[in-house]
Amino acid sequence: TSSIERVTVLGTGVLGAQIAFQSAYSGKQVTAYDISEEALDKARGTFDGLVATYAKEVPGAADGKAQAARDSLTLTADLQAAVADADLVIEAIPEVVDLKRGTFAKINEFAPAATIFATNSSTLLPSAISDASGREDRFLALHFANQIWRANTAEVMGTPKTDPAVFDRVVQFASEIGMVPVPIHKEKAGYVLNSLLVPFLGAALELAAGGYAEPKDVDNVWRIGTGAPLGPFQLYDIIGLVTPYNIMSHGDADARKLAEWLKVNYIDKGKTGLAAGEGFYQY
Ligand code: NAD
Repeated sequence: TSSIERVTVLGTGVLGAQIAFQSAYSGKQVTAYDISEEALDKARGTFDGLVATYAKEVPGAADGKAQAARDSLTLTADLQAAVADADLVIEAIPEVVDLKRGTFAKINEFAPAATIFATNSSTLLPSAISDASGREDRFLALHFANQIWRANTAEVMGTPKTDPAVFDRVVQFASEIGMVPVPIHKEKAGYVLNSLLVPFLGAALELAAGGYAEPKDVDNVWRIGTGAPLGPFQLYDIIGLVTPYNIMSHGDADARKLAEWLKVNYIDKGKTGLAAGEGFYQY
């Protein structure tokens, strides 16, 4: 086993709440930290929502198991107490490098020397944060996907300074909490999933925005041709169009043109994706 039993999750937003809940659901002893009582109040609502979601979507969760996971969570706004006893700290705070570096520097003072630190960052390489942690041999990225209870990959990525034994324990931990671990042997922006997905979604958008084919026909080709359950524009709707728009509008001239097309044809019309009831498709 990983010998990782006590897990502390920093941040109780979209991903942090899911990571905390899934770890507790898998029998780990979990503390969830956020910066204020207001944030924790919001987290309580999120965790109650996850109880309902698990009960509906996860086989076996309905008979009190999801509620028991919820009840086992410790919520706190005291950073020192949150990490004082942790085997593993998983950071899921906003994607701001200085905020993450400052947070790891702080908890390095509070956590036992043996505690492993992991970042769930989607876009930052672990080496951009590692030296601030004060424990580069016990620092790495552990990257989950949204809707962790079904999109259950956990990408594990160290820096050249990560102790291989620590890396292996975190891979083991990931499977203990029901994830399919994906060890990544060298640092790579975007890990595996986004290294594949970002160029794929970009190519789809070029076809539609360039007037070559309708979004629904691009999706048809992909589904029929590969047997994939969803086409790229269905994925855009699930992700939401605003995040890709924000990323592309800071890109090169070609990317900015695609961003503009998304804005004029979809975002400005309120068609921002599944959550809005309409994107490339109506729901
Ligand atoms: P979010 O905005 O939903 O949640 C961030 C949480 O951090 C909030 O609860 C906020 O109160 C809290 N917070 C703010 N400052 C803090 C601090 N100094 N210390 C502790 N907590 C603080 O963000 P999110 O979408 O959950 O993303 C969090 C991290 O997870 C990011 O690094 C992101 O790249 C990564 N991630 C997100 C997704 C996703 O689909 N949303 C997927 C994989 C990874």
